[in-house]
Amino acid sequence: MAEESGEELSKVVKQRIERNRQKAIILRKSKLVPHPYAKEHLYSEDTTTIKIGSTKYKDTGGGFLLEENTYEKPLEIVPDEAPICEPDRPNCVSCNKPIGTSWLFEKFSFNCCDSCKDPEVHKLITKTEAKETYLLKDCDFDKREPALKFIQQKNPHNHRWGDMKLYLQIQVEQRALEIWGSEEDLEREKERREEKRVMAKSKKYEKKLKELRKEMRSSLYDRTQGGPHTHDFGPETYNEEEDTYHRKCTTCPYEETFEKM
Ligand SMILES: [Zn+2]
Ligand SMILES: [Zn+2]
Repeated sequence: MAEESGEELSKVVKQRIERNRQKAIILRKSKLVPHPYAKEHLYSEDTTTIKIGSTKYKDTGGGFLLEENTYEKPLEIVPDEAPICEPDRPNCVSCNKPIGTSWLFEKFSFNCCDSCKDPEVHKLITKTEAKETYLLKDCDFDKREPALKFIQQKNPHNHRWGDMKLYLQIQVEQRALEIWGSEEDLEREKERREEKRVMAKSKKYEKKLKELRKEMRSSLYDRTQGGPHTHDFGPETYNEEEDTYHRKCTTCPYEETFEKM
């Protein structure tokens, strides 16, 4: 009797285990369904992605990390990112087909469709970096026509710092060419500025050296004048009653009484 109910119990347990196993299989299978946007996830699956805490950053190769979700933006279904309508639909500069959804067109007015978007070619660059690399001034970004478009992003180093402005590097490069004429001219200008900087630095250095020498000379002068004080005694006075002599320094308050044997 006791044996039978024990068997009954283990049967129930076995059934439950089997049910859980089936559930686990179904769950696992459901996770293996290919992601409908698998191609779009190219960006988060390559080796340049860095995960910090729960946030994924994309190393754009431009010296900063881009929070992953920027690249995932095209996946969001929001009205203003709907496919571009026929009449003003330009052709993609890469595949030459009319562009459908395009993150680059949406954000930067850059004619490149999402499937041709390449993390190497379409790097983003911070404004600071762009100014240094291409010797650009603020007005080169927003006063010159057409104003360069940018996206804003929380600073990955510190979220309390101001938002970073990220530009599309090829557009910045193009702007720099308009300003400097050619890459060689830009390089020449960079060299010229570097030389100027070095010269200014060495001039400053020479000036500093001169000051140091002057200081050294004057401290040397002090030493020949000063050093340990040697008393310069005035005339001695004799105290007949005590048979002692007394003298005072003429340059300091020191005075002494002494005997002569
Ligand atoms: Zn294309
Ligand atoms: Zn003295």
